[in-house]
Amino acid sequence: MPASTQQLYERFVGLLRETELLDSCSSLLGWDQETYMPERGADHRAEQLALLAGMVHAKRTDPEIKGLLGELEQSKLMADPQSAAAVNVRETRRVCDRASRVPPKLVEEIARTTSLARGHWVEARKKGDFSRFLPWLEKIVSLKQQEAEALGYGDHPYDALLDDYEPGATSAGLGKLFEPLRSALADLLQRIVNSPTQAPVEVLTRRYPVSDQEAFGRMAAQAIHFDFHGGRLDVTTHPFCTGIGPGDTRITTRYDEHDLGNSFFSILHECGHGIYDQGLDPQHYGTPLGKAVSLGIHESQSRLWENYVGRSRPFWEHFFPQAQAAFPDALSDVALDDFHRAVNDVRPSFIRTESDEVTYNLHIFLRFELERALIVGDLKPADVPGVWNETFERDFGLRPPDDRRGCLQDIHWSGGGIGYFPTYTLGNLYGAQFFARARVELGDLDAQLARGEFAPLKSWLNEKIHRQGQRWRGAELVAVVTGKPPSHEALAGYLENKYGELYGV
Ligand code: ZN
Repeated sequence: MPASTQQLYERFVGLLRETELLDSCSSLLGWDQETYMPERGADHRAEQLALLAGMVHAKRTDPEIKGLLGELEQSKLMADPQSAAAVNVRETRRVCDRASRVPPKLVEEIARTTSLARGHWVEARKKGDFSRFLPWLEKIVSLKQQEAEALGYGDHPYDALLDDYEPGATSAGLGKLFEPLRSALADLLQRIVNSPTQAPVEVLTRRYPVSDQEAFGRMAAQAIHFDFHGGRLDVTTHPFCTGIGPGDTRITTRYDEHDLGNSFFSILHECGHGIYDQGLDPQHYGTPLGKAVSLGIHESQSRLWENYVGRSRPFWEHFFPQAQAAFPDALSDVALDDFHRAVNDVRPSFIRTESDEVTYNLHIFLRFELERALIVGDLKPADVPGVWNETFERDFGLRPPDDRRGCLQDIHWSGGGIGYFPTYTLGNLYGAQFFARARVELGDLDAQLARGEFAPLKSWLNEKIHRQGQRWRGAELVAVVTGKPPSHEALAGYLENKYGELYGV
């Protein structure tokens, strides 16, 4: 390889790292905004974030990067399409082309508006008053429509936005993947609702002191190998995980003294995201090979730890005695079987983040339907509460009593995250496929989990998924790791077996 090509490549990697460092400052400010920033800091924070978004955008569209991309694409470095250099050039080209299509003014306007909208959404949600959020939603939908037009698309403007979260996915493709899952879930749910078996959910709403919940959650996070020397756990309204950079991954949860499951499973969920971020290769920091593939793959990791591991019987064979020791007043008279059934209670409910494994995806399908309609203009933001409630009643047989438990519950739209929701269902699908494969490759996985041995599974995920960075796109990675393209089958089969047995249906 001629030295000059190597030098060009090193310069290219240096520029990518600088961009990532700058972008990680936005991540840190975003984390602070959700955790410790005082209320009156919101306007100043919006200015900081808009400035940084503009700077990152300028770096991504810098003529020097474009020039380097052009030269490197013609070089021998591209001979092996899966080599580090080829992957980094290919994925940077994708991001750079996307960024170049959006005018800088629009980028800054979206960053400023969504940063301000966040606070108005919090207020509107607290008061259950959609009218406070409506002007912001209108502005955001209009900005996102402009963004989709600027980006360009094939079939549907929604595809342009979706591509930001799940590169390569289209709404038509997702429709095909989701439809058989929707009918399988509707059928399973109907049988469960009609079953005489009821989970003893009362045990989870006894008194669980918040400080004990925190200690127990931390202990479990550590046990599944979330690294607290390279991470933090804090409290927010809406749990999340943000990877600031190598050695700094932050997760959050929320506590309710009379709801053990809410905080505990949020912690496991966010740990799954955190373990992915902590497992990225620091040598490739700032380049696509050191980055997560997509939100769908990210969510597969959180769902795997939260549900496929964390709601399994073997997991609680190990942790239930420790839970009884941590919460003697609440759990001393509870049997493991009853506790396991309680954490796997299935019933139609209003809040997505608190919903069970069977109904969860139905919440996503509703949002997917409404978002697509918002972006093409078939649904006006002002009509969202009414249409939400009607659609919810159609799918769940319940009508949300207020917008707090309806269209105001999620943070995503206030942050401009239109196109984000379907990645949750992709995560459930991908996660089920990965977990089924891990079961084959790791042998006695259930026995390992029951002994509290989480290292083999974590190392398997590190090697097969985390260390691969963006070598493959989401759907390709699933096929490479599991030998099968993404499908609803692993998830539908898992749910059918597990809940068929728990509910005797
Ligand atoms: Zn998640």
